[in-house]
Amino acid sequence: MGFNIAIDGPAGAGKSTAARQAAQRLGFIYVDTGAMYRTIALYLLRHHIDVEDEKTLQEALDNISVSISYDNGVQHMLLNGEDVTGMIRTQEVSDEASRSSAHPAVRQKLLQLQRGLADTCDVLMDGRDIGTKILPDAGLKIFLTAGVDERAKRRYKELEEKGESVSFEEIRSQIEERDYRDTHREVSPLCQAADAVLLDTSDMDLDMVVSAIVNMAKERMNA
Ligand code: C5P
Repeated sequence: MGFNIAIDGPAGAGKSTAARQAAQRLGFIYVDTGAMYRTIALYLLRHHIDVEDEKTLQEALDNISVSISYDNGVQHMLLNGEDVTGMIRTQEVSDEASRSSAHPAVRQKLLQLQRGLADTCDVLMDGRDIGTKILPDAGLKIFLTAGVDERAKRRYKELEEKGESVSFEEIRSQIEERDYRDTHREVSPLCQAADAVLLDTSDMDLDMVVSAIVNMAKERMNA
């Protein structure tokens, strides 16, 4: 088992971008677990699966194969062999991922995939329950967050750049809704692990966040 870094935090805190860059600087494999939940959500949307119907959900999950591949260090998500990386970043998929990830069967499906990746190499994995549930023995755990307004601003900018038209207020309330669902679900709710370092990025730019992660990782690895 390599050295593992777990980064958890709420939606829109800028985890993915910072985590990806930090992993690159450290020579670690970056694993975006949110993308895995999004991949399952895309399947559920495409097949109009009612996630509240446990039997139908389980049947659907049995038909899904989620895998991951890397192209020049960039994570690609494969859904039954189809590369869906470019299709999982819409608001619709975000909402479905947030709803469906509350179901234990969905979480169970991804647990082995996530732990298996961490078993084989040095990974920097980000998500909601990495430090608390998936990699409880990670060498470094970070809880990365930012105020809700700041997160909404960042997400708004990101969607605007992609040409998606959504109002700021709408994004803010969607983020609040996802925060609520992620922190209040029964299984693996989002919370800071007791041994995680809190990193509030509200007043930090991307470079500062990346450097903070890299420095903490180097300190731990040399300890
Ligand atoms: O991080 P991202 O916004 O891509 O995640 C999409 C959704 O997947 C989150 O809102 C959350 O509900 C779910 N998720 C999760 N556990 C993880 C990663 C993501 O429940 N480890």
